[in-house]
Amino acid sequence: MGNELRQLQQRKLAELLRVAVTENPFYRRKLSGIDFNPDRDPLSRLPFTTRDELERDQIADPPFGTNLTFPLERYCRFHQTSGTHGKPMRWLDTAESWQWFERCWATILDAAGVAQQDRLFFPFSFGPFVGFWAAFEGAAAMGRLCIPGGGMSTERRLRMILDNQVTVVFCTPTYALRMADVAEQMKIDLPGSSVRMLIVAGEAGGSIPGTRSRIERAWGARVFDHSGMTEIGAVTFECLENPGTGLHVNEREFIAESVDPLSGKPVADEEIGELVLTNLGRTGSPLIRYRTGDQVRMSRRPCACGREFVRLEGGILGRIDDMLVVRGNNVFPTAVESVLRAIPEIAEFRMTVFDQGPLAQVKLELEPAPQAVDNGLAERARRALESAFSFRAEVWLVQPGTLPRSEMKSHRFVRNSSTTNWGSTK
Ligand SMILES: [Zn+2]
Repeated sequence: MGNELRQLQQRKLAELLRVAVTENPFYRRKLSGIDFNPDRDPLSRLPFTTRDELERDQIADPPFGTNLTFPLERYCRFHQTSGTHGKPMRWLDTAESWQWFERCWATILDAAGVAQQDRLFFPFSFGPFVGFWAAFEGAAAMGRLCIPGGGMSTERRLRMILDNQVTVVFCTPTYALRMADVAEQMKIDLPGSSVRMLIVAGEAGGSIPGTRSRIERAWGARVFDHSGMTEIGAVTFECLENPGTGLHVNEREFIAESVDPLSGKPVADEEIGELVLTNLGRTGSPLIRYRTGDQVRMSRRPCACGREFVRLEGGILGRIDDMLVVRGNNVFPTAVESVLRAIPEIAEFRMTVFDQGPLAQVKLELEPAPQAVDNGLAERARRALESAFSFRAEVWLVQPGTLPRSEMKSHRFVRNSSTTNWGSTK
C-alpha cells in the first residue's frame, strides 16, 4: 500500500477513534484504558468487534443498542440485517453517515463505468434491508436517472426495463436468473434489449464463474460484482479490466485485514482468512475491526486496472459459519453452487443436509431447465458432487418452477437437523 493511502487511513482512523472513544457508549466501554496511537501502533492492538457482541448490546439496550455516537435525534435512517445469520440486527445512520454510504456507492458506480446517459433500474422491494437503498440514492445524488422497481411482479419489472430502455439493472444474482427465466416464458429477447450491465450484490454468485456466465448469457450483458453488509457499508467492487476474478476493497473508506478465524492472528498475503473490516466514515454507528465471517484470499499483487486497493481473489469465498462438515469434508455452499452451475441443464437447485458429521445425508433437489431433456441429469449431478467433495448425494428431479426464487437472498442450502437459521449466502 502506498504512503498516501496509508496516511489517509491513519488520519481518518484517528479522527474516528477520537469521536468514538469520547462520544460512543459502545466503543467508550470497549476501548477504555487502551493506549493506542494510530500513527504509531498497529491496528491489531485494538480488540475485534463481533456480530455476537452487537446483538447482545441490542438485547441489553433495546431497540437500537449503544453503538450510537450521537443523540438519537440525529439519526434519520433505519435498516435491519436480513436475518439469514441469526436475529435481524437494527442499524441506524445519521444524515452524514448515510452520505458516506452513498459516496462509497459512487466509487462502485464509477468503477463500473455507469455514465450520465445510463438508465438505472432497481427491481427491489425497498423494505428495511439496506440492499440497494444506498445504491439508488448514491446514483441519484450523482445525477444518474434511477427508476424504482419495488412492489411489482417480475413480469411488470421486465416490461419496465423494455419500456424505459434501461441500461443497468441492480439485483441479486438469484433474481437476475429469475428474471431471465420469466423473460424466456414471456418470449422477451433480453440479449436484444438495451440492458448492458447487471450490478449484483447480496450473494456470492457474481464471482462464481458458472453463475456469472449463466447471467451474462441470458441477458447478453456484463455482470459487475460488488459486496457489502448492512452494518458496515458498501465495501468492494470488481474492476472492468479484470472481470469475475476478484473484488477490490475501497481502502480509502475501509481498512481490511485478513485473520485466522480461530487464533485471530493475521494471515499472510494470498492465504485464506477471515475478512476483518474497519469503516472510516460511518461515524454515527462505526465498526472497528469487525469480524465479517467472510472467508477471503487477500492479495496485494498489482491489478491490470492500476488500482492499489487490495483484492479479494475470487470474491467472497464463503461464510465461515456456513461451512458444512459432510462425512469429514469441509464443504462451502459457494463451492457446491460453482459445481452445479457448470451443468447448464440445471435451472435451480436446493440442497438439504440431514445431521452434520459422519452420518450426514445429503439430499439434492434439481429443477431441470424447461427445454432440457432428461439425459441422465440426476446421475451427472451426483457424480459431479462426488468427484468434487467425495460425498454421495441423493438426487431428486423436481418440476420446473417448484423451487423458491427470491429477489433477496436465496435459500438453496438447508440444514435440516439444526435450529439455527441458515442460508446459502449472507
Ligand atoms: Zn483491478
